[in-house]
Amino acid sequence: MTLKKIDINKIRSDFPILKREVNGKPLIYLDNGATTQKPQVVIDALVNYYTDMNANIHRGVHYLSQISTDAFEVTRRKVQGFIHASHDYEIILTKGTTESINLVAQCFGEAFISEGDEIIISAMEHHSNIVPWQMMCEAKGAVLKVIPMDSRGVLDIDIYKDMLSERTKMVAVTYVSNALGTINPVEEIIRYAHDYGAAVLLDAAQAIHHITIDVSKLDVDFLVFSGHKMYAPTGIGVLYGKEKWLNAMPPYQGGGDMIKDVTFAKTTYNELPFKFEAGTPNIEAGICLAYAIDYMTDIGLEAIKAYEDELLEYATLEILKIEGVRIIGTSEAKSSVLSFVVDGVHPYDIGVILDKLGIAVRTGHHCAQPVMDQLGIPGTVRASLAMYNTKEDIDIFIKGLQRAVDMLK
Ligand code: PMP
Repeated sequence: MTLKKIDINKIRSDFPILKREVNGKPLIYLDNGATTQKPQVVIDALVNYYTDMNANIHRGVHYLSQISTDAFEVTRRKVQGFIHASHDYEIILTKGTTESINLVAQCFGEAFISEGDEIIISAMEHHSNIVPWQMMCEAKGAVLKVIPMDSRGVLDIDIYKDMLSERTKMVAVTYVSNALGTINPVEEIIRYAHDYGAAVLLDAAQAIHHITIDVSKLDVDFLVFSGHKMYAPTGIGVLYGKEKWLNAMPPYQGGGDMIKDVTFAKTTYNELPFKFEAGTPNIEAGICLAYAIDYMTDIGLEAIKAYEDELLEYATLEILKIEGVRIIGTSEAKSSVLSFVVDGVHPYDIGVILDKLGIAVRTGHHCAQPVMDQLGIPGTVRASLAMYNTKEDIDIFIKGLQRAVDMLK
């Protein structure tokens, strides 16, 4: 297969924020793991929604309500196609990854978890894929188990296999670690879980804009991700769930849209997907998500991944030239995240100096405190890449980092 090279100049010109300066320097944005910037088509769609079509959806007979509803529902089908789901009603539009996981933990827990059942997560989960399961386990008397990882940030799949049993009801793991960049062997993880009849939830928050995901081929039970990390606005996210699970789960919240019929004596619930979408959603962000998907699809996820992989390799080689740098997360399978510490220097201090140079990175535990605890570090500096970053960005970042290290050592 020949990869389509991406037109980096065109891509950069599509993101207006990349033209701005920060602290008198051109912005070098390397905090894409936290949120990505938005292309002009997405910004235009947002403005157009309020300029031309604002109305509440699913309820009105009037024109504006109908066009808003249609646009919102286009997104559902766009997401369906993007992740290759069998049905559009298996796509639940939520606030984001966090809400999607909480929904599954609560509703799957209610329907399928009893005392003594087991939930498996991994040592490298984001807090949002830890805490909802802890809360559910506490409520249900279930047991939370953790797949260990080694010092490179690679999960121990042999131990995972031994952890599985008839008691295992759910395996919830991240596809790509936000703190380490590790790409987990999700096909294997799903296959082994299914041998025991356990469901699998994949947290694709850090994967969805880098890796082509086919939920049908993967045979995954639940897939969750956030719009804002894939070039769409904040406040919209996705829960994909297999119909058989979603139909058997009780609703998440009560309110408008999720009902079929309400009397004071009894309420019946709406069908999928509306059963899980109570109240007015983030309509404008939902509509924009379709534009972000089109934007990525037009460029091509394979081409984006190939470009980002090349960039990560370059950044990895360059950063190792700086004395005292230790990369955190050295799995062979990695995506777009360069986490590191520098001997004798606090990550926060590096972040502050880089910011003065117009370079945005993230410092701290990245909502993955157990990872930091295991590795015995307070946190890392994390440079995370997106399709609009360039080798020049990396060069400026490395130069800035060298300067910060020289000042702080
Ligand atoms: N999981 C992972 C792997 C993440 O990187 C993040 C965001 N940093 C989340 C979950 C939570 O996403 P959100 O805050 O958009 O709900």
